[in-house]
Amino acid sequence: MKINHNYLNLKESYLFSLIAKKVNDYKQQNPEKNVIRLGIGDVTLPLVPAVLGAMHNAVSEMGSPHTFKGYGEEQGYSFLRQAVCDYYARKGVMLDKSEVFISDGAKSDLGNILDIFDADNTVIIPDPVYPVYVDTNIMAGRKIIFINGSVENNFLPLPDEKTKGDIVYICSPNNPTGAVYTKEQLKIWVDWALERQAVILFDSAYEAYIRDENLPTSVYQIPGAEKCAIEFCSFSKTAGFTGTRCGYTVIPQALVRTNVPLNKLWLRRQTTKFNGVPYIVQRGAEAVFTEIGFLQVKEQIRYYLENACIMADTLNELGIWFTGGKNSPYIWLKCPNNMSSWEFFDFLLNRCSVVGTPGAGFGDNGEGFFRLTAFGNKGNVVEAMERIRKVLI
Ligand code: PLP
Repeated sequence: MKINHNYLNLKESYLFSLIAKKVNDYKQQNPEKNVIRLGIGDVTLPLVPAVLGAMHNAVSEMGSPHTFKGYGEEQGYSFLRQAVCDYYARKGVMLDKSEVFISDGAKSDLGNILDIFDADNTVIIPDPVYPVYVDTNIMAGRKIIFINGSVENNFLPLPDEKTKGDIVYICSPNNPTGAVYTKEQLKIWVDWALERQAVILFDSAYEAYIRDENLPTSVYQIPGAEKCAIEFCSFSKTAGFTGTRCGYTVIPQALVRTNVPLNKLWLRRQTTKFNGVPYIVQRGAEAVFTEIGFLQVKEQIRYYLENACIMADTLNELGIWFTGGKNSPYIWLKCPNNMSSWEFFDFLLNRCSVVGTPGAGFGDNGEGFFRLTAFGNKGNVVEAMERIRKVLI
């Protein structure tokens, strides 16, 4: 018996455990202080009424012999796949239901998709980045090339003639930087992939936060992307499904490599290894796309984006460089006074009782940067910004 030794190459992730330890120590030493957390990557508002109503109805259906559901389609119920197609049609992207796969969230599919690619492929991953892309490829023993995000490229790296690889991850709006690729920038990636027969794995988990109508919310808004890109999306940050679990993956029929449609491989993979998302959850997800459901989730997103706006205003006032916040729930700032990520973490905790996430935890290029998230309560965000303004002005 041999274990998968690639797992031993994974770096131990101390980020969130170290944050928890530092916050706990601080709270013990300063029990009177009200610690405000602006590091949470999870939503805090509850499911909206339209989703709840749909889920309640679905629960009742499960209790009647006439409407009870057992195993569903592995690819997802037709009603939800159709709702996703209709949503994309409103963005000007025409999809066929066979191109949509309902998942239990983007994270699983982002990792599992690697099943359909040879381990020999070279993968390009931006740095800093959502750690799942890196770790799932290390587990598979794949060669990884990092491309650098920096202040100079606004944390939106682009390929040049030297960029070589078979698979590239693009996350826009980005976690952790909040940066969003423009259509022109995405076209550079799409043209690059088409020319090299590479595949783009496009993570659009935060697309619902895009307010600027000129920015793309789907890679398929770029001509040719249907021949080179797989898109992963999620109801987690759109509609508060982080605990409910539902997402979807789009693999266009036009995406063919070495004469094999990737859609066919993924369908085979899913029908073999996946038994679908619960009916009740899929009915809840369907409600997100109804007129009333859509208005209700948009209102929650507006609330989070208002938090981001309050943070952005303070950073602007303090002259601190940052990306994100406008079309994303994340703000990525340059630590003031040349502090390292962890120095700034300690500074904020000890001087303001505010907790954020050190950028160094998202890759080497995150050193010297810091992530704030907008998923908290508005009163807390206002209070935190007041405290930060006082110590940094
Ligand atoms: N992609 C990105 C960029 C994320 O930040 C997250 C969650 O934080 C996910 C995917 C995972 O989403 P899900 O809850 O759908 O698995």
